[in-house]
Amino acid sequence: MCGIVGIVDAGGVSIQLYYSLYALQHRGQESAGISTYDGTNLQKFKGQGLVADVFSPSVLNDLKGNTGIGHVRYPTTGSNLPENIQPLNFQFKDHFISIVHNGNLVNTAELRAEYEQAGQIFTTTTDTEIIAKILIDDIGNTGCVEDAVNRCMRKLRGSYSVVMMIDGIIYAFRDPLGIKPFCIGKTDHGYMVASESVAVDALNGKFMRDVRPGELIRIDADGIKCNQVAIAGKRAHCIFEYIYFARADAVIDGVLVYDVRRTIGQKLYEENPVAADSVCSVPDSGTAYAIGYAERSKIPFVESMMKNRYMGRTFIMPTQKEREKAVRIKLNPIPAHLKDKSVVLVDDSIVRGTTSRRIITMMREAGAREIHMRIGSPAIKAPCYLGVDMPTREELIASNRIEEEVRHSITATTLHHVSLSALVDAIGFDRENLCMGCLTGCYPLQIEGEKAKMRQVDFIDGTYQSKLVSFDDGST
Ligand code: AMP
Repeated sequence: MCGIVGIVDAGGVSIQLYYSLYALQHRGQESAGISTYDGTNLQKFKGQGLVADVFSPSVLNDLKGNTGIGHVRYPTTGSNLPENIQPLNFQFKDHFISIVHNGNLVNTAELRAEYEQAGQIFTTTTDTEIIAKILIDDIGNTGCVEDAVNRCMRKLRGSYSVVMMIDGIIYAFRDPLGIKPFCIGKTDHGYMVASESVAVDALNGKFMRDVRPGELIRIDADGIKCNQVAIAGKRAHCIFEYIYFARADAVIDGVLVYDVRRTIGQKLYEENPVAADSVCSVPDSGTAYAIGYAERSKIPFVESMMKNRYMGRTFIMPTQKEREKAVRIKLNPIPAHLKDKSVVLVDDSIVRGTTSRRIITMMREAGAREIHMRIGSPAIKAPCYLGVDMPTREELIASNRIEEEVRHSITATTLHHVSLSALVDAIGFDRENLCMGCLTGCYPLQIEGEKAKMRQVDFIDGTYQSKLVSFDDGST
């Protein structure tokens, strides 16, 4: 859960990087950083907090150069330490190297042990530093970035969209399963890559296309070059990007996130209709779903919970107690819209159950008679190892409870989660091409102790051939 961007533009990049990171702020609020290259030196600035707090006009003015990369961080691997803030910067021979990463490797410990054994020293606890060390080591041996990225992709297991800046050149690549989103845009005088199309929109740029899974993009002052360096037998786009994480106005792998959510809202009504006075969303994550539900049911959409827009996501709070308090500050019920009413309350997901339980309690205190909870994802049953901050099975309310038990726990009048098939239909991809590990407990690559279903690709007789392999317990 991070946002990344890389830009080469003849008009200077610091302000453009700043606006792009602003557009990607929802992907991480813990820290932000920018590195630029001015033709001779690397300029860098990073700090803890929101983009607007970390950068000032004078800092941006000092970030000179026409090439740069940026990052907003939400920690998954690596704890909340200042040295883990990205971009990570290195000097290798005469080259300045800077790197940002969105995703999560599942073989971090193995790789780190291998490179430590070979004498490498690590200064952070992030998996991003491992990617950087593998690449720098290989580039040092062969001098060829394309080959280094290709070999690096063979070693990495997990999700990774990466932007690496070597002096004035940007290299961007996406894991062969395409787990995390990544796209290419055209700026006024150059090109950019970013986690979501909204970063391109923020610069008034032109969205070109998604980075293909396994593709390496090279951008410099002369333009852009694309090269397919790795291939997998299928894709495994993260379903949670569509459910919750990406901005609703983003287009990811050709699909507008808003429309997915709106369609799911319609399907929620078709699957489980209920008569009610109004449809209300948990803002903002439930809004597109609620609008779809209201359209199909013809029940009016009435905002009954107001969001304080100046507060970050409640998950930022590290403890359960703080999270619970934060929900009340963040959302305020409107009693005049709720008193004696039967309300359909729509949200994208239930994770621990904290938000739903608190909101339902607040709505009842404000006078609501019935609260019919409708959820835009199937029940979340398993952790995410591939880059979404998802708690352990013990903390997930639905991991060992049936829907009726969850309903009882969150105190809703009725509860319905959308079905997996309706969700997959709304996204429009074949289910084989989606990572649904958090919903099914079956992952697109091998994770110790978990079930996996994946395609193995072999290069036979001059062509790539793939076959489906399943692992029941994560063993080969
Ligand atoms: P919970 O209170 O634990 O059930 O969390 C559910 C709420 O948090 C929903 O309103 C979601 O919009 C939001 N949410 C879901 N997944 C995440 C996540 N990985 N990080 C932050 N917020 C999330």
